[in-house]
Amino acid sequence: MDLGVPVFELTMNNQTISQQGTGKISILSPADLEIAEVTAEPGVARTGASTDFSRMTPLPKGTRATVIGREGEWLRLDYGAWIKASEVQIVKDAVPPRSIIRSASSRQVSGWTEVLFPLEIPVPVTVQEGERTFTLTLYNTTAQTDIIRIQDDPVISRLEWQQISPLQVQYTFNLKSAQQWGYKLRYEGTTLVLSLKHPPVNTSAVPNSQAKPLSGIKILIDPGHGGPQDGGAVSPVGIREKTVALTVSKLVREELVNRGANVLMTRVEDVDLDLPPRVEMIQKEEPAIAISIHYNALPDNGDAIKTKGVGAFWFHPQAHSLATFLHNYLVAKLNRPSYGVFWNNLAMTRPAVAPSVLMELGFMINPEEFEWIVNPTEQKKLAEAIAQGVTEWFASVK
Ligand SMILES: [Zn+2]
Repeated sequence: MDLGVPVFELTMNNQTISQQGTGKISILSPADLEIAEVTAEPGVARTGASTDFSRMTPLPKGTRATVIGREGEWLRLDYGAWIKASEVQIVKDAVPPRSIIRSASSRQVSGWTEVLFPLEIPVPVTVQEGERTFTLTLYNTTAQTDIIRIQDDPVISRLEWQQISPLQVQYTFNLKSAQQWGYKLRYEGTTLVLSLKHPPVNTSAVPNSQAKPLSGIKILIDPGHGGPQDGGAVSPVGIREKTVALTVSKLVREELVNRGANVLMTRVEDVDLDLPPRVEMIQKEEPAIAISIHYNALPDNGDAIKTKGVGAFWFHPQAHSLATFLHNYLVAKLNRPSYGVFWNNLAMTRPAVAPSVLMELGFMINPEEFEWIVNPTEQKKLAEAIAQGVTEWFASVK
């Protein structure tokens, strides 16, 4: 409906002034509501309208929300996040997507517990991993819940829920262990499926075997960079990060295999490999843990002599313990300087399907540290320490 040109009126002390505005006012027919449906797998939700803004929980394909704003190629969704227009399709509907939830249930599939939330429409979700909790928030959703079926489970000790605002339902999973092993979110039709990974099972013939403490445990090692285009950091004498990362990754693989682990590598040669296929390999293989091996370049305005040491990077809380443990272990066992443990939203720390960490094992440009980095005896000791650190970490989180 077109209402024509707006007129603004202001009344003060019984005097009314009015002024004609510019533009036209029209009331949108409800049939004109623009609803975004996520077509990407998953859609990247952000806190603002550019890639500078932080990532929120990715939206599973099929998620629907009302578009309440636009800025360039970005759309603002009703629950607060922004998404790129290219990751959604616009559907017109007379009503904003809202859902009632009446029940939830769980089932176990190999290595995972799946929790099913039957909805009327796929709504936006966010998750938060706590110290011993996993919290799932459903937006545009109102509970009429009267039954939740959760069997005794390897991961979940108890599920609680509450309607935290008229259109937000929050489910809090109290967990059996402080260590979380990964999660996945997807829509099956209009049912939200949350998958929580079970702890890895040691398949050693002799339980707790000292010889093969990592029997049957799948570990993914990602040697950073590779190929002619992507050498990574460069040392003063022109040695590339990609080369040292591959050498040490292969030594780590050997040490882990000796301890019984089933080791996968994203690359075993000097080949081009972008970040997306590395991430896809983690998603597909669902390892118990993923470790990306790098050496550091100098930060902007950094001092090549003073900047040194081992750095560990994590993003999801489930990876924090592994990052901290490995960092502390390498610093202590190898008497290396510490660069620090960092929360960092990196492609290789972002997979949620497994605790995923990125290690920066020293600074290529530091003349003193570089000697240690390229020394074959020290490389072997480093690989042993990483494998032993991983082994002791697995033992510590049981
Ligand atoms: Zn690197």
